[in-house]
Amino acid sequence: MNVAIIGAGFAGLSAAYDLGRMGHKVTIYEGASQVGGLASGFRAPGWDWALERFYHHIFTSDRSLIDFVKEIDADDLLFFRRPLTAFWCGQHGAHAFDGALPVLLYPHLPLIDKVRMGLVVLLLRRRSDWRRLEKTTADRWLRRAMGDRAYEALWKPMLVGKFGEHYREINMSWFWARIVARSPKLGYFRGGFQALAERMAERVRDQGGRILLSTPVQQITPCDGGLTVLGPEGPSDYEAVLATTSPALLRRLVPALPESYTARLERLRSMGAVVMTLALDRPLTNGVYWMNMNKERFPFLALVEHTNFIEPAHYGGQHLLYLGDYLDPGHEYFQLSQDELLKRFLPALRLVNPAFEPTWVHGAWLHREVYAQPIVPAGHSANIPPLQTPLPGLFWASMSQVYPWDRGTNFAVELGRRAAQEMLRTLAVGRAAPAPRLVSEAER
Ligand SMILES: Cc1cc2nc3c(=O)[nH]c(=O)nc-3n(C[C@H](O)[C@H](O)[C@H](O)COP(=O)(O)OP(=O)(O)OC[C@H]3O[C@@H](n4cnc5c(N)ncnc54)[C@H](O)[C@@H]3O)c2cc1C
Repeated sequence: MNVAIIGAGFAGLSAAYDLGRMGHKVTIYEGASQVGGLASGFRAPGWDWALERFYHHIFTSDRSLIDFVKEIDADDLLFFRRPLTAFWCGQHGAHAFDGALPVLLYPHLPLIDKVRMGLVVLLLRRRSDWRRLEKTTADRWLRRAMGDRAYEALWKPMLVGKFGEHYREINMSWFWARIVARSPKLGYFRGGFQALAERMAERVRDQGGRILLSTPVQQITPCDGGLTVLGPEGPSDYEAVLATTSPALLRRLVPALPESYTARLERLRSMGAVVMTLALDRPLTNGVYWMNMNKERFPFLALVEHTNFIEPAHYGGQHLLYLGDYLDPGHEYFQLSQDELLKRFLPALRLVNPAFEPTWVHGAWLHREVYAQPIVPAGHSANIPPLQTPLPGLFWASMSQVYPWDRGTNFAVELGRRAAQEMLRTLAVGRAAPAPRLVSEAER
């Protein structure tokens, strides 16, 4: 089979790997000049390792990615550590928040609330009936289960931070999935996620796959026996196409999609992300990797001191800090220049470290993405389109179909591999040929 994949992110690369392994001819079209998609990185002079444009780590529970890394012989890249995570609570400043003890020691909540909160989290971890939980919102469920004080102090700011004015809509299974899937130990890759993406690309090429970088697809149209992909160098025909783009882009790329389906795509909403990376000549915090900020006091949601997780030596001795936020795509942060955003962000760093001076900053990079975090309202499972689109031969695998888990590279790999299997199964049935042998769990 001759297959095209649109996008060399983690979903596209893992789908290409499986299709190539089964002997199919794969061409990946990637609009950017490098592979890796949302998890791709950049490198400043003097850095040995690439740094993700948007902060990234994985969890010990990310089995699909960890297994895939082993399968493609990339486990030399992966390692785990337990960095310090904290949150900025109201007027009180930073507080560690990565385990039962720091939560019990948190001084600004009565003991009874903390014990109740701990029990609720424990019970949630034991539940598996996310379909029941998705019928209600996290706002309603958490307030009732944990009580107003704990909810207002700890969980509501997290929901508001991530989903802004949509926070009341978010369903409880999204919150459940975060509690179940997250671990205090975090994983990272030698050379950054970029190094892993490049290893994945190398494996795809080893199997004869082609990866066309800086090659944005302009249109996908039906043709005799398949689909025509229009790239900058003209049209090419394929028996099947897998698109790994946002729903909005899928709609634009494929004008032949029926209106009933595009209406469904339009209903899939998402938050964007704006992330500023700063290179400092010294550390900002006292060893904290991740700090969730209070958005009433700070002009950003997350302060991530990457070099409290990974040694500064990999970045020429610089101390790297991310200042990030999830925002509606119409938010002014998507229009402001880097200098304008710096003017808003830098004064806030003095609240974290009163000694901070702008002269500590030796480099700044701004990255923005309008499709960064799907919004998942109550009953969301009914909104998710299947991987196979109504157009014969066209498949779609995106962050919007990752559910109830929160999107991530682990789930992009799981989805990409599932899409490859579904393409083979569906097309084999269409041709009345024997179904291809699928990769078994044991082989993986
Ligand atoms: C702020 C932020 C923080 C995150 N933190 C984490 C984290 O800590 N851990 C984690 O595991 N995940 C994290 N993620 C999520 C993770 O990055 C994504 O879930 C994952 O990378 C999605 O992979 P994908 O292949 O589905 O999509 P993408 O990575 O978006 O890949 C799609 C690809 O398609 C390409 N493309 C688009 N249009 C075209 C076109 N017309 N022609 C050709 N190519 C095209 C794009 O350039 C892109 O490379 C984070 C994401 C964000 C935004």
